[in-house]
Amino acid sequence: MKNILLIYTGGTIGMERDPVDNSLQSVDFSKLTSSIPELQNSEIKVSHTSIKEVIDSSNMNKKYWIEIATIIEKNYDEMDGFVVLHGTDTMAYSASAISFMLEGLQKAVIFTGSQIPIGARRTDAKENLITSVEIAASGKIKEVCVYFEDKLLRGNRTVKVNSEQFEAFNSPNFPTLADIGINIKYNKNNFYKTEEQQLKVHTEFSEDVAVLKLFPGITEKVVSSILNSANNIIIETFGSGNATNRKWFLKLLKNVIKAEKSIVNCSQCLAGEVTQGIYETSSNLNKIGVISAKDMTTEAAITKLMFLDGWCTNTKEKETLFIKSLRGEISN
Ligand code: ASP
Repeated sequence: MKNILLIYTGGTIGMERDPVDNSLQSVDFSKLTSSIPELQNSEIKVSHTSIKEVIDSSNMNKKYWIEIATIIEKNYDEMDGFVVLHGTDTMAYSASAISFMLEGLQKAVIFTGSQIPIGARRTDAKENLITSVEIAASGKIKEVCVYFEDKLLRGNRTVKVNSEQFEAFNSPNFPTLADIGINIKYNKNNFYKTEEQQLKVHTEFSEDVAVLKLFPGITEKVVSSILNSANNIIIETFGSGNATNRKWFLKLLKNVIKAEKSIVNCSQCLAGEVTQGIYETSSNLNKIGVISAKDMTTEAAITKLMFLDGWCTNTKEKETLFIKSLRGEISN
């Protein structure tokens, strides 16, 4: 018998329409599981719990991540795997954050949700939930993943790409961990492997992070105010990591780095990687000490910086760890 714990955090999957104003509102979780009798069978026992305050995932922050990680830690020995029911909007961020928090994870933690509420006739929730439970119980997966519409993806490689289609997620820089059709086809070569066998849960998270998205014509005033708003900055650059090489821009970056703050270069492109130095417009970034996020998603880069800033004792240690793969989020 395999024991799987469902952790409900909110999102469309557990909502129903308010009869008065037609807006989507969260429902009681036990009502939700009882609408899927197929969840339980003779081989899999599914238990459930939820975070204290169920939320639309647009309200996600480190407080809830810590709550989810702590639930996993407390139930780790008794359970064979975990399924986290989460709103799709920030699922990629949460899956990334939780992957960093759970060092030495040896069980599956599968994030899933749905585009249509579980009680609605055309819902995609049942398939997503039942297959996630089955994957979590298989014993094959030992990492944090996102399962959605026939694909099992590494959580910290995932991005939400569609708010309309059932196929809402993708991992443009990493192949699928499993493809689901009549059979569940696991792609073992893509699984994350770690030497560490003991779960260690990290709950120190910083929120001292800002994102600067470049666009043609961005002003010095805007760049300066974002650079000065936090100690860890992600610049979303063009293509393979290019940015304007105007003097004022480089001077602002230099001053920030001189003040021991970290600047990370993440591309606005979904696929491909940042390679500083291919173009003149990125070679200066290299010289002044901007760190390349290579093929990391912005979601992974943000949560990794939050994680490292909360945990590392100095900027050097943080920056050294940032460019290393901690949970398979960046290619070596
Ligand atoms: N706004 C919802 C959420 O992310 C959307 C969803 O569940 O898909 O919580």
